[in-house]
Amino acid sequence: MNSNIYNSPVFEMACRQFDRAADILEMDTRLRQRVKMPKRCLAVSCPIELDNGEVVVYEGFRVQHHLSMGPTKGGLRFHPKVDLGEVAALAMWMSWKCALAGLPYGGAKGGIAVDPFALSLGELERLSRRYMQEMIPFVGPNVDVMAPDVGTTPQVMAWMMDTYSSYVGSNASAVVTGKPVGLGGSEGRKEATGYGVAYFAKSYLDDLGIAPEEATAVVQGFGNVGSEAAKALNRFGVKVIAISDVSGGYHNPHGIDIGDAIKYVSKNRTLEGWNGGDQIPNDELLEIKCDILAPCALERVINETNASKLNCRIIAEGANGPTTNQADAILAENPDVLIVPDILCNSGGVIVSYFEWVQDLQSTFWTRKEVLNRLCKLLDRSKAELEAQRSKLGCSRREAALSLGIHRVAEAKRIRGLFP
Ligand code: GLU
Repeated sequence: MNSNIYNSPVFEMACRQFDRAADILEMDTRLRQRVKMPKRCLAVSCPIELDNGEVVVYEGFRVQHHLSMGPTKGGLRFHPKVDLGEVAALAMWMSWKCALAGLPYGGAKGGIAVDPFALSLGELERLSRRYMQEMIPFVGPNVDVMAPDVGTTPQVMAWMMDTYSSYVGSNASAVVTGKPVGLGGSEGRKEATGYGVAYFAKSYLDDLGIAPEEATAVVQGFGNVGSEAAKALNRFGVKVIAISDVSGGYHNPHGIDIGDAIKYVSKNRTLEGWNGGDQIPNDELLEIKCDILAPCALERVINETNASKLNCRIIAEGANGPTTNQADAILAENPDVLIVPDILCNSGGVIVSYFEWVQDLQSTFWTRKEVLNRLCKLLDRSKAELEAQRSKLGCSRREAALSLGIHRVAEAKRIRGLFP
């Protein structure tokens, strides 16, 4: 790695993936660093007053990876472990994800190192607004468009949009996506990421000749992505036999009642104390025998210690970066496991974010059916392009996805030229 500011294991992981794809593409050495390194970042201090009168300063970041194809696009993460290197890696992955889906965006990502569940609603609102206020010179509908990620919600996006709009003096709904539908949000956005994960899982089950009704799934992470993926898998006929969140794993070989689990979490915030399955440790959950394993939480959960112990046919990566480089190498030796790589598998979210942005800019709104039809068309196109690339290059699905996305960004930079 050759960065002093983004130094982190997750950034190193994203760089290694890039280097491998650039080698496969035999990318011109004059282009490599330009395509790889994040264009710019902003780190801000966000002081807020807590309900008890105390003033606390939270650190916030935003990284914009490249500006060559349109505004930058990507989520905003609220999590205690967020750091600049992680955000930079996530921004890089957004670039390849948007390019793979054919969206006119560069990648971005933001984050605040905070546990959002430790804050009251008022504190969360003050922090969200303060962050957006600090970001005003750095974002905008044609500059950088935020969206939800781990720990952020449509309500947080609504506060962001309101803060930005108050600053510019007119309604600027296209400055963020993932807003509530009543405020310029798109139908279908909330379920888009999880739905896309389930859609790809089903599509690859079909390719393997496994009927969804005979298939089982394990979903790791039960936030927006994991719970929506579990719901959609159920709807496709797949039996979800285990779920998990920070409180641990819950296993029920007869099938988890997803609706009940979602209701429980909306009341209790986590699955702690839920009795719809036998409690098992999170690392055991990943090794359960199943057809689909869907990691839908944070990075690097599939690593060199558990990669050889996985007992699934398909890994459907709902999270960004759930599989380390070392785990990829181990899994490459296992012909029984098919990896649906993150930048394809979870691209449904940013695709519907793009639809939301387009609808906001045009002040015209599509029905849920229209949104989902258009989404499925783009997902099918990306999968077909990835499979064609894989056959052409004889590489893994991750390498095929990355090389397609990276090549498109590299071409845009090459054609635009290097401004003196
Ligand atoms: N945070 C999501 C992701 O990682 C969505 C980004 C967006 O909708 O802009 O893909």
